[in-house]
Amino acid sequence: MKDSPATVAEIQAAIRNVPDFPQPGIQFKDITPVLASPRLFSGCIELMIDGLRPGMVDAVVGIDARGFIFAAAAAVRLQAGFVPVRKKGKLPYRTHEQSYDLEYGRNTIAIHVDALKPGDRVLLIDDLLATGGTAAAAAELVKKVGGRILEISFLIELGFLKGREKLRGYPIRSLVVY
Ligand code: AMP
Repeated sequence: MKDSPATVAEIQAAIRNVPDFPQPGIQFKDITPVLASPRLFSGCIELMIDGLRPGMVDAVVGIDARGFIFAAAAAVRLQAGFVPVRKKGKLPYRTHEQSYDLEYGRNTIAIHVDALKPGDRVLLIDDLLATGGTAAAAAELVKKVGGRILEISFLIELGFLKGREKLRGYPIRSLVVY
């Protein structure tokens, strides 16, 4: 049936694995075929927010850059605001920053100091959970501006990297687990 909701298996089948991108040894999960399909893209959003309804979340916080795609759509669907967490130096106003370790080196992400109101209920979204460093740093930023994370939602989780261990205490949802 064409109009039946997309299943996780169908979404997984559309995710393209690109070996050795952006560097040797990385299996890059290319989600562009999922985004290009109206049925699969909207299916992702429905599954990533399943159980949440308008009025339950004040803001959806999305992580630079592919997290924005899902977080913005989820925000519209949940009638909530959208807040970007961006790489350092990209946000124009005053920011809080948080650094975290990468396999090689360190990365810093930022949020506007007034992005949330104290006590705001937040759904945090990124496309993919790998080592968990990015999401853990984003969760710290949400806390710094007074937000309360209800849940962290990912389209993809690389389970073998054990990113969940860096996100203890938060409810985590991921649709496709490798
Ligand atoms: P991490 O901080 O290790 O959990 O990395 C998560 C971030 O890196 C996410 O924003 C992803 O978009 C990106 N990322 C890490 N590994 C991959 C991968 N294998 N394929 C696509 N994106 C990835």
